Amino acid sequence: MIRSQVAEGAGSIFNSPPQRVAIVGAGVIGLACALYVRRAGLPVDVYDTLAPGEGASLGNAGIIAICEMLPIGRSSILRQVPRLMLSTTGPLSVQTKYLPFITPWFVRMLLVSRPAHVMRLSVHLESLLTRATSAWLDLTKNSVARSLLVTNGWLKAYQTPSNFAAAVAESKQLKDLGVKLEVLDAANVHDLEPSLIGLCGGLFFPEAGNLRSPLSTMRALAEDARRAGVVFRRAKVARLAGSPHAPRITDAAGGETPYDRVVVAAGAWSRLLLRTLRIDLPLDTERGYHLMLPTPERSLTRPVSLPIPGYTLAQMEDGLRLTTGVEFAGLDAAPDYRRLLRMAQHARTVFPGLAQQPLSKWLGFRPSLPDSIPVIGTLRNYPAIVLAFGHGHLGITLGPLTGQMVAAIILDRTMPFDATPFSPSRFGV
Ligand SMILES: Cc1cc2nc3c(=O)[nH]c(=O)nc-3n(C[C@H](O)[C@H](O)[C@H](O)COP(=O)(O)OP(=O)(O)OC[C@H]3O[C@@H](n4cnc5c(N)ncnc54)[C@H](O)[C@@H]3O)c2cc1C
Repeated sequence: MIRSQVAEGAGSIFNSPPQRVAIVGAGVIGLACALYVRRAGLPVDVYDTLAPGEGASLGNAGIIAICEMLPIGRSSILRQVPRLMLSTTGPLSVQTKYLPFITPWFVRMLLVSRPAHVMRLSVHLESLLTRATSAWLDLTKNSVARSLLVTNGWLKAYQTPSNFAAAVAESKQLKDLGVKLEVLDAANVHDLEPSLIGLCGGLFFPEAGNLRSPLSTMRALAEDARRAGVVFRRAKVARLAGSPHAPRITDAAGGETPYDRVVVAAGAWSRLLLRTLRIDLPLDTERGYHLMLPTPERSLTRPVSLPIPGYTLAQMEDGLRLTTGVEFAGLDAAPDYRRLLRMAQHARTVFPGLAQQPLSKWLGFRPSLPDSIPVIGTLRNYPAIVLAFGHGHLGITLGPLTGQMVAAIILDRTMPFDATPFSPSRFGV
């Protein structure tokens, strides 16, 4: 069915098939795009200032969160925003200086937060998330990365009956969308994760998976790509140039390289790059932190999130990782680890086995659009440029599927579902 919708503006309007593809960004999205485009037989260059996987794709919680079908901008979350903004211990913080910059983004989020919009956006997310696990399995077949991918479910746990009851009430919407979940009482939670205490209930998502090390997974994917012939160029792309059908990449030294297609998979920095074409999208960053702690004697067997106060604990191959909620402070502000350290103090109250002394701290930049829906598609006025960013909290989950979609767009192939909701045209570009 969906050929023209996916390929909107691409493929068919070109005189000949693409010969040479550039991908800007070697995060999970860029790597998956590189592998799928290369598997289709096209030469691929990947540009990144960092080594592959060392942007946001390095330090996340690694959850293949196929159950996250509700957009962030929904009333149950938004009505808490004023209170959360004033709290020093909650999952959300906004740097005062950044408030004028993030306000238009919030307004856009508010505009799509009414139930009818939330329902529509959930259906779009569902069409991606139901395909995410099989895309991961496909991308990692015959790869070392497969050994780092486990499916042991994901637990969201609650400390107070009122928070638990609210989560159970909201979970009905997930059930309606076909998400498999189990409501657990305190004893069930303890059976599942005996090292945790003081929890009164939880939601368990048995089909969620996780990566035992996002960075090792990214390195394995990069190695697969290299072996397949993808060329990694350690360079900053300073600007995009050229004509609509013949894009060029300009590096920081001013050198220009022509390509038949360019994929913008530069995560939270994608907006800066597109501005060089005088194109603007409402992309911002939801910053998130992690703290690595030594592996406890009795650790967790699956990722566990405490949505309130807002952190996730996940055992990785090199220690236990605590990841935090969201900070709005843009791409340039220095890290502020105070909230992360407070979260770690809180985590010790539910997980007494947690060490005091951290191994390391990290700040990362989620690339986030206000409707929680990534852009995956070609630009109306630059049909040779494919956008693939804005995955927010779900980049790890949706990386491989995005790679499949981008390859389908570049090769003018059909996709088994309607990809028009992800087109940049929803932002008028
Ligand atoms: C704390 C935290 C926890 C998270 N947990 C999860 C989770 O459990 N599950 C999940 O699905 N997602 C999670 N995420 C989200 C996920 O990490 C991101 O959505 C995903 O990594 C984004 O991937 P990306 O490839 O778009 O961006 P990135 O990984 O940031 O890659 C973009 C790359 O582009 C490069 N780049 C940018 N501009 C240029 C340029 N001009 N020239 C050259 N290179 C450039 C950057 O150097 C970077 O390497 C989490 C994020 C955070 C911060």
